[in-house]
Amino acid sequence: MALTLLLVAAPAQAYLTAGRVPLPKPRPAEAPAIQQQQVPAETEKPADAERPAAEQRPAEPPPPAACRLALTDSIAIAPSIAAIHGPGACGGDDLVHLEAVVLPDKTRVPLKPGGTMRCTMASAIADWVRTDMAPLATGLGTRLSELDNFDSFDCRGRNRVVGAKMSEHGRANALDVRALKLANGQSIALTERATPRELREKVLLSVCTRFSTVLGPGSDGYHEDHIHLDLAERRGNYKICQWDVWDQLPVIAPLMPAVRPDEAPPRQTAEAPPAEPPAAAPAAAEPEPEAVEPEPDHPPVKPKPKPRKRRAASSPFGFLR
Ligand SMILES: [Zn+2]
Repeated sequence: MALTLLLVAAPAQAYLTAGRVPLPKPRPAEAPAIQQQQVPAETEKPADAERPAAEQRPAEPPPPAACRLALTDSIAIAPSIAAIHGPGACGGDDLVHLEAVVLPDKTRVPLKPGGTMRCTMASAIADWVRTDMAPLATGLGTRLSELDNFDSFDCRGRNRVVGAKMSEHGRANALDVRALKLANGQSIALTERATPRELREKVLLSVCTRFSTVLGPGSDGYHEDHIHLDLAERRGNYKICQWDVWDQLPVIAPLMPAVRPDEAPPRQTAEAPPAEPPAAAPAAAEPEPEAVEPEPDHPPVKPKPKPRKRRAASSPFGFLR
């Protein structure tokens, strides 16, 4: 019996051990199998290569932006520069360095200093200067000589506030302008009250029509000395135009009459009382009290009856009478 048991037990152990062998089956099915499936999936690229082939067509040649093609040397001197990416969201593609706007008569209006901005912004500036500002100068009997660049590309927050939202300057999508200089030596200072209001209003109408953001005096306190222009994109093409064209300061009326009337005594009488006693005191001190002699020094002074009363008071006889 023991032998049979052993014999039976032996195959039973063998079966058990054989039964444990297939245990690892699930393992290879999980990890290795998946890995093996993934690898071939990647190697199947050649099958998908047909798609990329079609997708590569637009990527192969860097598409020349329509803006770049349109912004020729007959419109502006604005050579392309390398794209800027970072830090953060700063920079952009399709950047140019706007050096001058070329007017229809081929004269150049330099942007000083030259500014880095997106091609679309440079194109908008060029169109603004060519179409609206150049004729404005012509109407004044002169021509534009220079466009002031107060700030262009600058990787910073709005209004230079740390932690604020990214400024359009950081996206190379803005330009700050203080003045348009003229060939006759004058300039159109955009935020100065002395500049004729009509001129400033014409510029306001022009920029608020062309740019999506215009900030100037009265907007937020940061634009009292320049005008901010940008092409920020908003839903519904929403635009912001905040520029109060202040009135010219009124001429201050003179506080004093231009010519003093010859009748100066009235003012002196106001100052005279304190000055009289010291001048009159030495002469009148001994004989009689103060009030007697100061009077002859000032004949025009009216009140003579008062001193008479004093004389009467000082005279014992008069008093007795
Ligand atoms: Zn600005």
